[in-house]
Amino acid sequence: MAYLVAVDSGHGMETAGKRTPAIPEEWFGKKKGEVIHEKEFNKPAAEYLIAALKRCGFQTLNVSPGTSDLPLTDRWKAANAAKADIFISKHYNASTGNWGNAHGIETIISQYAGEDSKNLARLVQAELVQAHKREDRGVKADIVQSGINIAVLHNTNMPAILTESGFMDNLAEAKTMLDPEFQKADGEATCKGICNYFGVKYVEEILTPTKSITKTSPKEAITWLQQKLNTALPGVTYIPLIADGVFGTRTRIAVLIYWEFKGWKQDGKEDGWKVGPGTIKELARL
Ligand SMILES: [Zn+2]
Repeated sequence: MAYLVAVDSGHGMETAGKRTPAIPEEWFGKKKGEVIHEKEFNKPAAEYLIAALKRCGFQTLNVSPGTSDLPLTDRWKAANAAKADIFISKHYNASTGNWGNAHGIETIISQYAGEDSKNLARLVQAELVQAHKREDRGVKADIVQSGINIAVLHNTNMPAILTESGFMDNLAEAKTMLDPEFQKADGEATCKGICNYFGVKYVEEILTPTKSITKTSPKEAITWLQQKLNTALPGVTYIPLIADGVFGTRTRIAVLIYWEFKGWKQDGKEDGWKVGPGTIKELARL
């Protein structure tokens, strides 16, 4: 039977504090002076991870669908109820909250973690460091890193880790939060570490046409999508989108907000951030 991996993307779009300082110039379509929310990295990174895990034959449970800040209790309870084999939470670090020099990658485990969590943490940490070529800050206990028992690490019944792929208040590392290539590399690296932990073969992605609007849809289709989202979501964060035909982070998050607005369950037929016929049909009515 396939292993079940519970995947959590930390926080929500509006969670207090979890954001960069004002950015000094335009980055990936985000304007100078705006902030990047931690969720804008956590969410796509978790979705890339889920896509990679499925490709490698894992079952997945997204314990934080949508972009709102679900109670931590809901997250670990969902993983426990489903009897997930492991729990992974995706995050981005912060030091002072002002631009500074803290940098690198660390993976966090409960201070009470057993050997399985430690082993999983070491394997994922190694892959993330290799993929992102950032300083290896090592595996740390939650109580050491943040002074608390982190709920999703402490209350989960299975091996559980939390990854911090860089610092939100480091200019160079903050910039990559919105980079789809970086987000994807993060998901793939995390998946490789998980494969190593279970002794499952990592399967490379073969890009097939029709799979993802990001890679295959004509520019006009994405431009149309952006225009429709602008109509559908007046006054919402990120709206209006620039209708440039590029399916970047802002557009992806706007799609997620639209689904949340419609009350659609995102682990259902639309499967992560891929825009499917249901969304197209609904937007076409506008
Ligand atoms: Zn976080």
